Amino acid sequence: MATINKNYLKLPGSYLFSTIGKKVREYSESHPEAKIIRLGIGDVTQPIAPAVLEALHSAVDEMGKADTFKGYAPDLGYDFLRNVISEKDFKARGCDISPDEIFVSDGAKSDCGNIQEIFGLDNKVAVCDPVYPVYVDSNVMAGRSGEYDSITERFHDIIYMPCTAENGFAPVFPEETPDLIYLCFPNNPTGAVMTKAQLQKWVDYANEHDAIILYDAAYEAYISEDDVPHSIYECEGAKTCAIEFRSFSKTAGFTGLRLGFTVVPKTLKAGGEELWPLWARRHGTKYNGAPYIVQRAGEAVYSEEGRKQIKEQIAYYMGNAKIILEGLKEAGFEVYGGVNAPYIWLKTPDDMTSWEFFDYLLDKANVVGTPGSGFGPNGEHFFRLTAFGSRENTIEAIERIKKLK
Ligand code: PLP
Repeated sequence: MATINKNYLKLPGSYLFSTIGKKVREYSESHPEAKIIRLGIGDVTQPIAPAVLEALHSAVDEMGKADTFKGYAPDLGYDFLRNVISEKDFKARGCDISPDEIFVSDGAKSDCGNIQEIFGLDNKVAVCDPVYPVYVDSNVMAGRSGEYDSITERFHDIIYMPCTAENGFAPVFPEETPDLIYLCFPNNPTGAVMTKAQLQKWVDYANEHDAIILYDAAYEAYISEDDVPHSIYECEGAKTCAIEFRSFSKTAGFTGLRLGFTVVPKTLKAGGEELWPLWARRHGTKYNGAPYIVQRAGEAVYSEEGRKQIKEQIAYYMGNAKIILEGLKEAGFEVYGGVNAPYIWLKTPDDMTSWEFFDYLLDKANVVGTPGSGFGPNGEHFFRLTAFGSRENTIEAIERIKKLK
């Protein structure tokens, strides 16, 4: 008799975005005149930059000619892309990451979810709370957790590191020593960052405790302050304790195109075993490479024109972030994030729960955001707004929110 992976049954089901969708649908049906503004989604809205589009078109044309046609891409990515990533993302920042330590993929979500496969089931996992859910769920599916406790809203046998206003939404070392530590900075959902000195402490801690840091830097391109590291490899000793995930999604509008990469240094070991060959094996066995045309588009992100255009897009989103941040402050809200990340994390007023505030904002301002409690119990009484909307909608949403006060 075939049986299922019972670990999947431990997952309580993520109702966050479906509940949001349902509530918004019902509201629009009963208020057809309402002009609803959505500042909840974590998806980009600006079109692909012209330099990237041009590279895509010319790669498509190559696919139509026998002498330039490309079949399967190399498992780990084309050299033209790995070389430029190594130069521009790492060596230019003083990080000694070579092209063959870069594994090109279809995005950070799959890599963040799949990386746990190369680690033993007996590893103790630590995550931030609130958290991007992929890190927890993928470990639950693999069997690295106990049951879900609906009272605490946490899984047994996972270490949760509270990220609160008091600690600046940066975790402190947990009481129990973890083996695998997921960190994401700039953070989704809080928009918080760690300074280089703070991250260095985590690198030292991981090296001291033979732990591995799984560092999600999907929002690295949004960093505006000097003392915030773009890569964990800017910290001394990170090549012996950290894997880093990067994404072209929010950097260059590739959420629909799909491209990302993971860095596994050759010097990185767990339990005395090298991790690079394991991830290479996993990639080679289960993944057949990101499309040629998308990798050419990725290469164009690093061209002079591409960089300039992408910088403008990010500046546009961060202009929205500033409008949200300053507008909410003016309206008397307690607000965080929005300086080095496209997310604004606000404290709900009058002790409302995250969902009460969601309903209030939808009803009174016709603005949709994301309840913080959907990212973990420490997200309760918080609310996430994103800077990915249009300028016009962002301005209008904030004007409406200001009028509520
Ligand atoms: N990591 C974080 C923290 C994210 O917020 C997201 C997307 O929202 C991803 C990874 C996924 O990135 P990708 O589109 O490359 O799969």
